[in-house]
Amino acid sequence: MKTVYADNAATTALCPEALEVMVSCLKDNYGNASSMHHSGQAAADVVFEARQDIAACIGADVNEIYFTSGGTESDNWAITNAARLGAKKGKKHIISTTFEHHAVLHTLMMLEKDGFEVTYLDVHEDGYVRVDEFTKALRDDTCLVTIMYANNEIGTVQPVEEIGAICKEKGVYFHTDAVQAVGHLPINVKEQNIDMLSFSAHKFHGPKGIGVLYCRKGIPLISFMQGGAQERNKRPGTTNTPAIAATAAALKKSCEEMDKNISYVSSLRDRLIDEIVRIIPRTRINGGRSPRLPGNVSFCFEGIEGESLLLYLDLKGICGSSGSACTSGSLDPSHVLLALGLPHEIAHGSLRLSLSEYNTADEIDYIIEQLPLVVERLRDMSPVWEKIMKGEN
Ligand code: PLP
Repeated sequence: MKTVYADNAATTALCPEALEVMVSCLKDNYGNASSMHHSGQAAADVVFEARQDIAACIGADVNEIYFTSGGTESDNWAITNAARLGAKKGKKHIISTTFEHHAVLHTLMMLEKDGFEVTYLDVHEDGYVRVDEFTKALRDDTCLVTIMYANNEIGTVQPVEEIGAICKEKGVYFHTDAVQAVGHLPINVKEQNIDMLSFSAHKFHGPKGIGVLYCRKGIPLISFMQGGAQERNKRPGTTNTPAIAATAAALKKSCEEMDKNISYVSSLRDRLIDEIVRIIPRTRINGGRSPRLPGNVSFCFEGIEGESLLLYLDLKGICGSSGSACTSGSLDPSHVLLALGLPHEIAHGSLRLSLSEYNTADEIDYIIEQLPLVVERLRDMSPVWEKIMKGEN
């Protein structure tokens, strides 16, 4: 059976360059990068070079890069650190959006319990923050703005540069969760006025369990774990040399090939969207079409359940994802789709297909052939669809 991996927003395959450098570190360069001897120093050299390469890819300085265990840790660290700095000055207001990843939302919920006030900006039906609404939400006691670069479910890209410029002018820290954007879109933290930026290697063909926090020089950063002196005393724990080297290899490659990848992947995306909307009736695309991540396709099909759709697609060899999260036994629609104002019954029929440069035109043809058949089959069994057809819904 043909297999198509179209879940690259969840994670990506390791690229050969990352695999090679990872294996070589594990086999030959296994010293502890904090050790004084030659083996440790050889590992430290690899980490130093990786840090330089990563910094160059996002327009940062080498000393502004901190390695973490992934996007979740980077988000938690950036937000709690900025909140702590704000609280010291009596500033306990934060601005974010309703459709952030849970790594951000749950951190904010924790801070709300500690007396912070959070304004969650509406992202409207098209999945974009409005800069004028953001400006109106700013207050004298705002200490942090945390707005994602690109949404993981619907792929909409936010006006980060404009928001950053306003934050800079007002002297408010600006953090962006760029987990879905780094390696896929050109980013320059200085030009885009970004104070803190989180990302994760496994979203751009690097390994899992390794992430980066960029934190602008001059922002006091305090470790939220206790231990050794790694990462310039800011983030304890033995340095993960193989994963760090592989992150740099994967990011360098993604950045070198970015223009080519953006044009190739977005052409696959557009063809998939156009054909599916043409073939399958009562389909909606979630989020505005531009600016949108090159690989993101997000649909809602009326009258069916996203979970069943995923299972049937999997039987056809197609890996996708649904926006729904199974929480405490009940199937809740995704908070992202609800943030767009979609009714529950429509949000339940969601499907995200996320593409990468590893996908081929043949694979897109296969999805275009199979997806309508699967949707039709599920609709034939669906009492909800029957009602829609009778005009009762
Ligand atoms: N933020 C966004 C937007 C994400 O998509 C993800 C992962 O899917 C994360 C944060 C968490 O990243 P990690 O899996 O590296 O912890």
